[in-house]
Amino acid sequence: MTRYLIIGNSSGGVGAAEAIREIDRRGPLTIVSEEPYPAYSRPLIARYLAGETSIERMAYRRPEFYHQNDIGLVLGQRLVRLDLESRHTELDDGRLLPYDRLLLAVGGAPIVPPVEGLHEHEFFTFATLDDARRLAARVHSGQRAVVVGGGLIGLSVTEALVKLGVHVTIVELAPQILGRALDAAAASMVLRAVEEAGVRVLTSRTVVRVLGGASGADVRAVELDDGTALPCDLLIIAIGVRPRTEAMAGTAIAVQRGIIVDRHMATSCPDVYACGDVAEAYDFVAGGNRVTPIWPNAYLGGRIAGRNMAGVDTVYSGGTAMNSLHAFGLSIMSAGTVDPPPGEPAYETLLRDERAKGTYRKIILLGGRVVGMIFAGEVDRAGIVFGLMRNGTPVDAFAERLLADDLGLLSLPAELWQQMVRA
Ligand SMILES: Cc1cc2nc3c(=O)[nH]c(=O)nc-3n(C[C@H](O)[C@H](O)[C@H](O)COP(=O)(O)OP(=O)(O)OC[C@H]3O[C@@H](n4cnc5c(N)ncnc54)[C@H](O)[C@@H]3O)c2cc1C
Repeated sequence: MTRYLIIGNSSGGVGAAEAIREIDRRGPLTIVSEEPYPAYSRPLIARYLAGETSIERMAYRRPEFYHQNDIGLVLGQRLVRLDLESRHTELDDGRLLPYDRLLLAVGGAPIVPPVEGLHEHEFFTFATLDDARRLAARVHSGQRAVVVGGGLIGLSVTEALVKLGVHVTIVELAPQILGRALDAAAASMVLRAVEEAGVRVLTSRTVVRVLGGASGADVRAVELDDGTALPCDLLIIAIGVRPRTEAMAGTAIAVQRGIIVDRHMATSCPDVYACGDVAEAYDFVAGGNRVTPIWPNAYLGGRIAGRNMAGVDTVYSGGTAMNSLHAFGLSIMSAGTVDPPPGEPAYETLLRDERAKGTYRKIILLGGRVVGMIFAGEVDRAGIVFGLMRNGTPVDAFAERLLADDLGLLSLPAELWQQMVRA
């Protein structure tokens, strides 16, 4: 019997466990997680902070999931050493777990910049339920918070803090917020919505020093690179995540930014697989490997890894960077290349800029195929365009219809929508 070991109990780990159990109900299967909770929906931690959901309602699978699928669950334990020769892993309590097939679904860790005084004072990152709980225990109405980072995570924690009555300033190093997800025009719509909610946004700025109060670890202010001191009671660092590759150091597993995997989600070492935020997997827009840290990619990559671990040859069709945000009363969805690279005439941009009416739609084509998209203000039809992008469908013949208000499957050529409905 094959012994399966999965490190990481989130989107990727659960996807793999489900796929394994669809094929092999008998091989011993263990999931190890450093976090003390059964799998939960990480994207909901901002709603938890805002008091809009509970730990029970965030559960990613029902409590009986592990028992019903005969999965051994080891919580609150970290993989500290990997011995690929003897096929053992060591946990931080000294336990040795053997495996025949191993999945590394260990996700990402928040990036913490080297800022003077940061580690002498209390600051928060926002990547886990425990981060959200720790912040929830400290926050109260009327406080002032500085959120470093105006990306998706920075905005989601900001929205939660605003709902709790906190005065927030976002400090963003780039000239615009959501620089990785949106172009300048769409970002300006979000900026307006954020500012209308009373948030102050400082772009092209960074924090260089953390200043403490008279006693203990309390933060009193942060100093920016232009010398300004911003008084604050809470400091949240949300500048992104990096793949958690530390446990692979010193092993033969090939790592660049993340663990490199092939189209079967297999690493460079036999019987070791990886998926999710820790993996550099196939991106169907880039046409090569990239880290694309989003929930659905982790789950799908996990499923593909699981099928291959259980012996059924399955190829990953790939994921891509896709961002969706529903915050400050605005819905946004973007994917792929959102700004054509400068000086590349091969790209074509379809644009419907109706920001005055609260909507903005942009589609980027390359070689007659969709390679990028932004839908802001109105996202109902974004899924159809994303489907065309994912399938690499030639859209030349009907490209102008993609920006229509009434875009639906029936707007597409008959043979195409019939295909999409059948798929
Ligand atoms: C605030 C926030 C909002 C988000 N919103 C969205 C969203 O709206 N849409 C979206 O698509 N994505 C969103 N994401 C990203 C999404 O949550 C991730 O892409 C997804 O969780 C990745 O899943 P994963 O299984 O790869 O790893 P993770 O969810 O990161 O889980 C990895 C697990 O492995 C554990 N682990 C790590 N190292 C070890 C070790 N050595 N030993 C044992 N266990 C270990 C970790 O503790 C963790 O529990 C959001 C992320 C955050 C933080």
